Amino acid sequence: MSRLGILGGTFDPVHLGHLVLAEAAREQLRLDKVLFIPTGHSWRKPEREITPGEHRLEMVRLAIADNPAFEASSAEIDRPGPTYSDVTLEELHDAHPDAKLYFILGRDALLDLPNWRAPERIVELSTLAVAERAWSEADPNGDAAVAALRTPIERITMPEIGVSATDLRERVCNGLSIRYLVPEAVRTYISDRGLYREG
Ligand code: ATP
Repeated sequence: MSRLGILGGTFDPVHLGHLVLAEAAREQLRLDKVLFIPTGHSWRKPEREITPGEHRLEMVRLAIADNPAFEASSAEIDRPGPTYSDVTLEELHDAHPDAKLYFILGRDALLDLPNWRAPERIVELSTLAVAERAWSEADPNGDAAVAALRTPIERITMPEIGVSATDLRERVCNGLSIRYLVPEAVRTYISDRGLYREG
């Protein structure tokens, strides 16, 4: 049975935190592959304009090009309407009936999961695999909501990478360097396309 990791995200832009998370998950859970799936129309982050999907997908492709175990999927970007992870997992389950699916999340995303559509279905279709994030705060309500899902959680340990996409967008907007915080090909892409210059 193959073991498939799924890392969904806005990836606006993809950064070292995502890559270290995916590599730690691959190694510790002995995954055959990690699929990076940039979200289409995110209904969880409606408050800000998200960069068009083709740019976010291309940056992911550039970032993972040198890792044979990583793959980018356009499934959510290609699907019209809002992105729902239960639909994505359903599709992956049908496409890979013999695979064990691991849904990889940072702790901030885990605490938000009970607010997503059909979290019970998500944990039926996949095993949650969660990494701490440096600044994610203790949240007893969030923990209780996650516990109510009654699902085992695989812990991923990784070095703390104190980078967020929000922080990177702000840096570019303020003319600050993002060198070494994203792969060089991603930095060049952002600079050549003039992404994130306006906040
Ligand atoms: P934003 O700042 O725009 O909210 P983000 O940096 O949190 O973005 P997302 O694309 O929303 O990135 O994150 C996708 C997944 O990667 C989430 O599960 C999130 O918890 C995880 N993640 C993001 N950054 C890190 C990091 N530095 N360390 C560990 N996990 C991370």
